[in-house]
Amino acid sequence: MDFPAEPFKIKVIEPISITTKEERQKIIEDAHFNIFSVPSDKIYIDLLTDSGTSAMSDYQWSGIMLGDESYAGSKSYFKFEETIRSIFGYKHIIPTHQGRVAENLLFSSVLKPDSIVPNNIHFDTTRGNIEHNNAKAVDLVIDEGLDPHKEHPFKGNIDINKLENLINEVGVARIPLVLITITNNSGGGQPVSMENIRQASDVCKKYGIPLIFDACRFAENCFFIKRREKGYENKSILEIARELFSYGNGCTMSAKKDALVNIGGFLCIEDDELAQRITNLLIMIEGFPTYGGMAGRDLEAVARGLEEVLNENYLNFRISQVKYLGEKLQEGGVPILVPVGGHAVYVNAKEFMPDIPQSQFPGVALTVALYKEGGIRAVEIGSLMFASKDPDTGDVTYPELEMVRLAIPRRVYTVRHMDYVAETLINIYKNRDSIKGLELVYEAPSLRHFTAKLKEIG
Ligand SMILES: *Cc1c(COP(=O)(O)O)cnc(C)c1O
Repeated sequence: MDFPAEPFKIKVIEPISITTKEERQKIIEDAHFNIFSVPSDKIYIDLLTDSGTSAMSDYQWSGIMLGDESYAGSKSYFKFEETIRSIFGYKHIIPTHQGRVAENLLFSSVLKPDSIVPNNIHFDTTRGNIEHNNAKAVDLVIDEGLDPHKEHPFKGNIDINKLENLINEVGVARIPLVLITITNNSGGGQPVSMENIRQASDVCKKYGIPLIFDACRFAENCFFIKRREKGYENKSILEIARELFSYGNGCTMSAKKDALVNIGGFLCIEDDELAQRITNLLIMIEGFPTYGGMAGRDLEAVARGLEEVLNENYLNFRISQVKYLGEKLQEGGVPILVPVGGHAVYVNAKEFMPDIPQSQFPGVALTVALYKEGGIRAVEIGSLMFASKDPDTGDVTYPELEMVRLAIPRRVYTVRHMDYVAETLINIYKNRDSIKGLELVYEAPSLRHFTAKLKEIG
């Protein structure tokens, strides 16, 4: 494949520990076979998440020294605001310390108890913040977006017919906003096309409903538009982003993704009255409007990260690196979700180990095997995370998909690291008959995957 070499060189390094198989066996037993309980200094390649794990550049680090820590009117805020406005184009820019606070501020200001919020697929904090306001989160991704084998260039698209039908069915009054997540994280990091965004925007305008983007991976989405959508081949990422955001009325953003920093977020809003109400709430729960939960130096790093993420050589390397890992795995016979998305490769654990039933957590079993074999940390997105129990009958319903996500941190690992991950996983695939199912010995009443304790069966 056409895979460019790294468009950066290494100035600072962080040593990572190398453990033996025997040590890892003991460590994973002590962690009760839950990868969240393994200390990070016992991990060789950490693919748990791409969130807040980016490597900052020398340009960002030098900006850290220039951070203005003034409580009010910090010049770092004005730089942050100006940079964001130049890309996103929105009027009011409200800093928050993470994306979920932007969600909380927005939803608690516009949702009522019977509100319904459509999205392609809601990310879990988004869904959580909507449900926390007693409103309902509805996923309306196109059917192709739910099929792990279907090739489609824009599998993150929202289904326009389903959207319009929902509005007609429940009435405009119950839908205070429509969300679109770019790229669609929970659907495998799949992009949304400009055409789809334009159509969704037309529907929203027709009914007078604001369209808000969950913009965490907007630059990766814009790069896919440039590569896959007719008419955008010769546009810059900045031009594509400006057009994309012009179809909406605001966005929430976790800077821990495409702003290439370790902490931060923001909310953009066009509406003056809403921005005023949210700012009043911000002062109460996050901070003064010119820092909103971040240090001045963090604002500076976000502004510089947003400038850098628009660089096409960076994005080409980024998207190609993820695809490279996916293709290596496919060559080795490992079943993965296709096409490969922007930030992660998803391994199909159900097909990897068809003999382990979902009641024995095949996804978790694969994360355990990855750790034991190679010191690699991945995350299960399957029956431990999502199975639901009927409170009356005790019957358990398992999720349709049983996946293991290999999320790639930005600018952190080299191609040789990707080779190592692929070789390890292919090796596990060849010896998959030796993987054991697991059973629970402890589970918390909610979000059990974080703290569950398990043991191997047999
Ligand atoms: C990470 C993420 C969020 C939440 O952002 P945090 O900074 O983790 O609070 C919201 N939506 C999507 C799509 C995300 O990936």
